Amino acid sequence: MSNALLPPAPDAGKPPAGKLTPPRRRAPGSHPAAKGKETELGRTRRARRINRTLAAAFPDAHAELDFSNPLELLVATVLSAQTTDVRVNQVTPALFATYRTAQDYAAANQAEVEALIRPTGFYRAKAANLIGLGQKLVTDFGGEVPVALEDLVTLPGVGRKTAHVVRGNVFGKPGLTVDTHFQRLVARLALSAQRDPVKIEREIAQIIPASEWTMFSHRLIFHGRRVCHAKKPACGACPIAFDCPDFGAGPTSPEEAAALVTGEEREHILGMLGDAQ
Ligand code: SF4
Repeated sequence: MSNALLPPAPDAGKPPAGKLTPPRRRAPGSHPAAKGKETELGRTRRARRINRTLAAAFPDAHAELDFSNPLELLVATVLSAQTTDVRVNQVTPALFATYRTAQDYAAANQAEVEALIRPTGFYRAKAANLIGLGQKLVTDFGGEVPVALEDLVTLPGVGRKTAHVVRGNVFGKPGLTVDTHFQRLVARLALSAQRDPVKIEREIAQIIPASEWTMFSHRLIFHGRRVCHAKKPACGACPIAFDCPDFGAGPTSPEEAAALVTGEEREHILGMLGDAQ
């Protein structure tokens, strides 16, 4: 399975010519959700509107880990703990070329796995998990990656987040991937006040249709990486500014905010400014 990005547009990364139109927005702090006055129905409708707007902003949202089969995505997701997908994608070509099957991981030498995955951090624990994961796949699942959530979470280093990534992206089973970006964004957007990932997952599952869970996760994570940065979000260039109770957490000037937007979708996102949502 390929998850390759579309090739960048020739002038990707350049801001559109001329003065930018601000996004549709409210005065900072004036959103009903910011004042604790939003109804449950209002929150549900807003969450679904945010999902639709992010779908238009990030039509190519996808898992950013490189993989070509379920085992590779499982391994890459285990390695992604406490590091970036970019760092994982740097080490997986050599790892995947060396270990192609669950049996290969089961029989692997710990020091050799550590040497290949060292740049991802926590490499001793991760190497032990990969070997243990291979052994359990061989003994309990015939060497194949299981589909069921309750089976996946029995594997070393695999929690609900990893299980949902695998189920959603290679088995077509909807899942909400509650990673650090997802947690940060649902809190900032006041879509969930929960802190525990499992409780967040349950709450968001109530307001976003199951058929959208996997893509909603990708879109929110894309938005968190490219527009709504933790320290300085690009509010003045944000396509969901109107629906965000934290609008104003970052620069609201379109020009200043535009400079903060990153990624291949940058020009497309800046081109959405001023569109009705
Ligand atoms: S960039 Fe600003 S307006 Fe957009 S979601 Fe983040 S905090 Fe809200």
